[in-house]
Amino acid sequence: MPVNDRTPVHDPSWPAQVEIYDTTLRDGAQLEGISLTVDDKLRIAEQLDQLGVQYIEAGWPGANPKDNELFRRLPKELKVTTSRVVAFGSTRRVKGKVDSDDTLRHLVEAETDTVCIVGKSWDYHVTEALGTSLDEGVAMVADSVEFLRRSGRQVLFDAEHFFDGYRRNPEFGLRVLEGAAQAGATHLVLCDTNGGTMPHDVERIVREVVAYFGDDVVVAVHLHDDGGTGVANALAGVRGGARQVQGTINGYGERTGNCNLTTIIPNLTLKMGIETIPADRLELLTPVAHHVAELVNMALDPQAPYVGSSAFAHKAGLHVSAIAKRPDAYEHVAPESVGNGTRFVVSELAGKSTVVLKAKELGLELDGPQLNDVVDMLKRLEHEGYHFETADASLELLMRHATGWRQPWFHVEEWEVIVDDARDADRLSTQAIVKGTANGEAFHEIAAGNGPVNALDQALRKAIGARHPALGNVHLTDYKVRVLDTHRGTGAITRVLIDSTDGEQSWTTIGVGENIIEASWQALEDSLVFGLLRAEQRG
Ligand SMILES: [Zn+2]
Repeated sequence: MPVNDRTPVHDPSWPAQVEIYDTTLRDGAQLEGISLTVDDKLRIAEQLDQLGVQYIEAGWPGANPKDNELFRRLPKELKVTTSRVVAFGSTRRVKGKVDSDDTLRHLVEAETDTVCIVGKSWDYHVTEALGTSLDEGVAMVADSVEFLRRSGRQVLFDAEHFFDGYRRNPEFGLRVLEGAAQAGATHLVLCDTNGGTMPHDVERIVREVVAYFGDDVVVAVHLHDDGGTGVANALAGVRGGARQVQGTINGYGERTGNCNLTTIIPNLTLKMGIETIPADRLELLTPVAHHVAELVNMALDPQAPYVGSSAFAHKAGLHVSAIAKRPDAYEHVAPESVGNGTRFVVSELAGKSTVVLKAKELGLELDGPQLNDVVDMLKRLEHEGYHFETADASLELLMRHATGWRQPWFHVEEWEVIVDDARDADRLSTQAIVKGTANGEAFHEIAAGNGPVNALDQALRKAIGARHPALGNVHLTDYKVRVLDTHRGTGAITRVLIDSTDGEQSWTTIGVGENIIEASWQALEDSLVFGLLRAEQRG
């Protein structure tokens, strides 16, 4: 075996293939702070289909007007190429009739080929929450599965609280599953609804259930992350013989979330040699994770395994040249395999070798003296309070400057901000003036704004926006101020970080100064220049 062979080792006792069932649109949407429109849901479903998950659970028809609209629009507006769309619901009511049950009727009316219904498999919940007999608990599941089968649907059965119930009364848990299997369910989904089960218990219980049912049905696992072991539990479930894993993109979900598909998919594929999504789609994992994060409007955790922006970022100055020579010695998988990339983080600690690597990453050629200039400039600027680790865009502009590059789009000679506290008005008025040249023509513009940074942004866009329409796509998404050497009070140095996006890419720029508006101006100017640079590079 070569010194660092990263070929996965597949144990023959594990399944060769594991289906991926995504529940981002239903279970994932339970996360606090997420509110998805029907359009958002359609766009997320499109991403999931491109990624190639086997099942997309779209929602609960009949539960709310949004999900009703979604199921109405899905067949027309989403052309699935790989995935099956699933409608989710529950079993019939206690002592109810399947033919007159609203939930079951809505499931059929959703007109998906596949449905998933949840039912109780913990005796305590049947007797206490439902207040009925254990026999009726089993009948509710079996009747409902059978009804949906007769309506021509593939049925997956979600056994709620399965692991908690099984530990206390395994006979009843198995009876419920048997009722579902005999009625024609293709999948028995063992749910850790409270999310606190540990991996060793998941593995043992899944193994016992798989042994009981053999190959007749697929045993699946649906695991919440309350013990911080959502992904570990799914790996344990697969070792126990589960052939389907359920979860959500970026681990979204109620409380601490669900098993994170962006982690479990590469773990199964790259580490355990198990087939999951189509092999050529694995490199879509990082772009899909970021795209979905944007659609749910939550910044993706930079430290997310495999897909985070820091997942393959190297800062250690000492090791950097070694990493460049032998990345496999410092990275657990090839970042490209999941669509991510190696990043070299440049800070004042960085030696020349880091700067060389960063230049290579950016496609810049720096000769010896230019290289020394950049290293010296970084040291000086970091001493003044700049911090380039996060401000990648300002760093790139600085390095381009060292090569002699100058931005050709505009040149501001003077700017002025007037904040007027008119006593009779109910708010401050803010105006900014910018003077300079663009493509050889002088400009002199004034604009009002909602605060000084916004006024400067508005004035500059007014001056050059018509000449550079690409600026129309660029907008600021975050503005952060940090006061350095606080003992100097209001005379302290201020560091401003601005996050911007053009809808395809996001970047961060930095400004530092004793005057907060001056620091903001630097970061703002860098942000707009960087936006124009990227637009030019895309052509
Ligand atoms: Zn769940």
